Amino acid sequence: MTDYKNFTVDADKDGIALVTWDMPDRSMNVFTEEVMNELEAIIDHVATTEAIKGAVFTSGKETFSGGADLGMLQKMLGLFEKEKNKDRKKAIKLLFDNAGRMGWLWRKLETCGKPWVSAINGTCMGGAFELSLACHGRVVADSPAVKMALPEVKVGIFPGAGGTQRVPRLANTQEALQMLTTGQTLSPQKAKAMGLVHQVVPPKKLVEAAKKMILDGLKPVQPWDEKGFKLPGGPVYSAAGANLWPPAIAILRRETYGNYPAATAILKCVYEGLLVPFETALTIEQRYFTEIMQTTEAKMMIRSLFISLQELNKGARRPQDVPMRKFKKIGVLGAGFMGAGIAFVTAKAGIPVVLVDRDVPAAEKGKAHSASLMDGLIKKGRATPEDKEKLLSLITPSDDYAALDGCELVIEAVFEDSEVKKGVTEKAEAVLKPSATFASNTSTIPITSLARNSKRPKNFIGIHFFSPVDKMMLVEIILGKKTEDKALATAMDYVRAIKKTPIVVNDTRGFYVNRCVLRYMQEAFSMVIEGVPAPMIENAAKMAGMPVGPLALTDETAVDLAQKIMKQTIRDLGPKAVDPRHMELIDTLVDKYGRLGRKNGKGFYDYPERPAKKHLWAGLKDLYPQKKPEKVDVEELKQRLLATIALEAARVMEEGIVTDPREADVGSILAFGFAPYTGGALSYIDGMGVKEFLAMTKQLQKKYGKQFKAPALLHDMAEKGETFYQRFAPETGAKERKAA
Ligand code: NAD
Repeated sequence: MTDYKNFTVDADKDGIALVTWDMPDRSMNVFTEEVMNELEAIIDHVATTEAIKGAVFTSGKETFSGGADLGMLQKMLGLFEKEKNKDRKKAIKLLFDNAGRMGWLWRKLETCGKPWVSAINGTCMGGAFELSLACHGRVVADSPAVKMALPEVKVGIFPGAGGTQRVPRLANTQEALQMLTTGQTLSPQKAKAMGLVHQVVPPKKLVEAAKKMILDGLKPVQPWDEKGFKLPGGPVYSAAGANLWPPAIAILRRETYGNYPAATAILKCVYEGLLVPFETALTIEQRYFTEIMQTTEAKMMIRSLFISLQELNKGARRPQDVPMRKFKKIGVLGAGFMGAGIAFVTAKAGIPVVLVDRDVPAAEKGKAHSASLMDGLIKKGRATPEDKEKLLSLITPSDDYAALDGCELVIEAVFEDSEVKKGVTEKAEAVLKPSATFASNTSTIPITSLARNSKRPKNFIGIHFFSPVDKMMLVEIILGKKTEDKALATAMDYVRAIKKTPIVVNDTRGFYVNRCVLRYMQEAFSMVIEGVPAPMIENAAKMAGMPVGPLALTDETAVDLAQKIMKQTIRDLGPKAVDPRHMELIDTLVDKYGRLGRKNGKGFYDYPERPAKKHLWAGLKDLYPQKKPEKVDVEELKQRLLATIALEAARVMEEGIVTDPREADVGSILAFGFAPYTGGALSYIDGMGVKEFLAMTKQLQKKYGKQFKAPALLHDMAEKGETFYQRFAPETGAKERKAA
């Protein structure tokens, strides 16, 4: 039998070939060109070898497969870009052919004349799930570790290897659309209930059950290739179809505001595909896929949400010459809102935590937060009581600093007060080894000034979490003037251990994320003052692709916090640093009306008792003369909200606060949901073109003021025809950071 690099093929006495996918040089199986070539040879081999009755396809790794390799997608786009300027038609044909390779290979498998069963032993994503759907049988291991999804839409593309055609031929149309347009993850049980898999069996019985399907006479013909096949959700032109399609289109519009071409394309693929024979349907899918691959949204989303995100998670910005660290004990100072969350995510990563507060009951209260989070997970079936016990056993509440002895890293999350922070830093350092790293979770105090309280400022760093800590995936790592690489590497190793994404930020007021978020809120304050009806502001933000309106966000973080920050800014930088009209608006809300935000049930919104929903405070419109809605340009509101953030991100790059565009982009999406279809705050500018962006901000500056003044950097880039990713090529960024 032929030797394959990525597969083993073993036929048993019954003539069933077990095809095991196990790539020798990767921790996870992914589709590369080589894998596809080998798979094609295996399909031919199974089809033409008389002794083989059928094949079971499985993985030799813990997971089944992550789907297509990034490199393959990038190569495909690269070839297209290269060819595009020479011969556009040829370039599109090339893209079309490449886009169809996987889909037609899976078609070859399902029509090869021999039965195939996919034995899904672990996480099975994208192209791998599409391959499984092309198999005649699917058996899944009954384990919470097994997750199945077609998540392509989340990175701006869609399942283009038959996924949009096979899912709605197996499941009812509504569920199929839901799954495809959201990239929803399915448990084995859910997949079975939808009709996407045949059996869910104990993990140990997986291959045996798959083989049995073949021995029991599994037909090597898919239902849709049989005469008289009926769609599970009924035909498009039927009463069921008439009930489904108009609302489906409206729901998608409501969820995406038309910002995601890939999601719209999925709807078209399913609608058109279900009207025609299967192979024509595959061609329709291939055509839309080719179209979507050429969109700016796909290019930007693949770059930020797929490639950059993975690179940052793998520690792209970590100093390479410092050995990796595994943590045996971590200290958290302050068991309040943030400290309790930090203790939870640390223990969840299996790392023992000492949680210190002023007295034991306060520390215990912090630990109780972990207990209640685990109770929530247990209720949702995502954890067991044993998991809870294990996690809680890792958290030691204490009021004694001596308990920090042996910690390699301590994270401080006490009150936002320099004196209090000074006190705990000194007490902790008295116990810690000189080599230990001390991190502060401060949100406003410069790390360099806090490091002055430390005897070893080279080991002092900022690890800035966002709330709620257990949900927010981004962590800013802040470098003080004297912070050395070892502390940076330790902080990165920690953030990666707790499975969050780190971005490295140089010390400045508000760091990166909060600078951008404040701009977003401030632009909304200006709109309120101009008399733009508040619902229009919130809706314009959503239409622009933001997950939370700026007024709702101000309420979430607290209106009085905005007031505190503004007052502090005036104290530090002088009265001109804050727009007096903004100060007046916030003072009115807090001081006159006691509207502090969600925390006291009233802010820009009112928060009635559940199940009633929050709604914008009616009194807001009495504060300023209101514009007539038809006089407000919604497109311009959208532009203002995105541009004000993008400009701040550009300033942050100009100042060298963030040096790598990948971090600015990914950070903006993970921290405050910057319109993901743009690829992030800088990709928004790159995608539009710097010149066009400048033309837009010039207009906005004329009408609305200096917050839209573009930094010199952008003018220089426009002159040179550069994008952020050219000007700050990631490698250059790393060098610049070192030089700084
Ligand atoms: P919090 O008031 O909920 O918690 C602070 C905790 O520190 C309290 O439990 C308090 O008892 C404890 N503490 C105070 N003095 C202490 C001392 N001397 N020794 C030990 N413990 C002491 O505050 P929080 O919201 O958790 O914020 C903590 C830090 O995190 C602040 O620096 C804040 O700026 C920062 N931060 C907060 C947020 C947020 O959204 N709340 C987000 C990012 C960063």
